[in-house]
Amino acid sequence: MRRGRVGLIGLLAAAGGLYGLWRSQHTLSSLKFVSPPAESLSQDLSPAVTGGLTESAAAPLGLAPSDEAAMTEFKAHFAAGDYGKTLEIAERQLGQADLDKGYLAWVRSQLGVVLTCQAWVLIKSGHCDEALPLLSRALRAEAIPEATKGLAICTMKSGLIDDAEKHFEAYLAREPKDREVRLIYSDLLESQGRFTEAAAMLQALLTEAGLPEGPGRTALDQRLKSMLARDRESGRQLLHATESYRLLYRAGEHESLVPAVTDALDQVLEEFRNQWGLTLPRAPIEVALYPNAGFTDLVAYGPRWASALYDGRIRVPVTQEFIAGRNVEALVRILRHEMFHGFVAEQVDRRQLPPWFNEGVAQQVECPDGCSFPGFPPIPGNFFAAADFMRPFTNLDKAHAEQIYKQSLYMVRVLGAWPGIENPIRSVLENLNQSTPLDADGILRPLGITFNQLRDRSADLWNSRFRP
Ligand SMILES: [Zn+2]
Repeated sequence: MRRGRVGLIGLLAAAGGLYGLWRSQHTLSSLKFVSPPAESLSQDLSPAVTGGLTESAAAPLGLAPSDEAAMTEFKAHFAAGDYGKTLEIAERQLGQADLDKGYLAWVRSQLGVVLTCQAWVLIKSGHCDEALPLLSRALRAEAIPEATKGLAICTMKSGLIDDAEKHFEAYLAREPKDREVRLIYSDLLESQGRFTEAAAMLQALLTEAGLPEGPGRTALDQRLKSMLARDRESGRQLLHATESYRLLYRAGEHESLVPAVTDALDQVLEEFRNQWGLTLPRAPIEVALYPNAGFTDLVAYGPRWASALYDGRIRVPVTQEFIAGRNVEALVRILRHEMFHGFVAEQVDRRQLPPWFNEGVAQQVECPDGCSFPGFPPIPGNFFAAADFMRPFTNLDKAHAEQIYKQSLYMVRVLGAWPGIENPIRSVLENLNQSTPLDADGILRPLGITFNQLRDRSADLWNSRFRP
């Protein structure tokens, strides 16, 4: 099976899981600039910025003891990586009349770097809103490329595409070799419908020296192939845009489906907010309907058994059956399923949720009034181990994927009926935000139960053929 997670330059984060076969699916690659600041961005960024401080830290000579003490305090917090505290100290010291003018000038010269470092701490924990004012202040103090990079990423995440583009261009003019940012920028270009340019950028990344054979290269290659296919398709696409989503579909083929699709999207948006307590994403969710033939070229990184996916955008193949107006409720189920992935991804800042939960709830919400699920009551046995539910399902073959999807839904239904807890699923969803721990037990913490408890109880019920 294909790789579910595309770890290109550490920046591409898997967006979710799959769901298969006879209906939707989701996940994969794409740019999760949004998600993974943790490894990638931090490693790239912090040393560079920290270096800035050290360099200009050749502070004034001959300081009085009180100035020395002030500088020691400043540097100690900075060296410890506590940039928020360093900023507080800098601001306090700048208001102290007893400190030497030369020393205070040095403090002012460090402000841009400290602000940028603190902004990146916030970006990495999903708090772009708080980072933005710091980045603007940093840039007023000093032209620091990392501050521009932060602005580019945060404005893009807020859906301010035109602003983001300005910042990306400014940053890349100074740092033209930053592969990570060029990759993210190619995603912005896709959002703008500039597929040819996006493909050219990916092509350049691929042909440059220095990218070894391996998963990263394969992922980039698949991304380029997909982008070229989208470029060809784009000439035939029309756009239906609302405040909450942007729907692309093929002209001359999909028009008859647009009313049903927009009704389904409008309804599910309302339902997610009201019934499930989810937050409306800051930027419109992008939804693309594609012809069924050639779908696998448009998402070359998707598993073959996926019948739709969410990779930062919802991508759905449209069959002739749907176009003929038959079984449109299946299309609606796919859309609702993928919309859940899109909604919840934004709520956790596109970090990876435990696959069992992401796929289980996505199936649970597929039908407006609940679905009847095939295969329940279950055939006893073969309940997956706890660790299997935490790994991306994208690597599984079709048969195992089908089984683990079913068991994920089963666990969500067992959770939803957990004795003594009111609205367990809604409680978990409401608690999800950009800083919620997304490990096995993290999302269940508000309920006071552990993942192993849930998994074991589910396995017992499964084996007793209980119908949740
Ligand atoms: Zn799914």
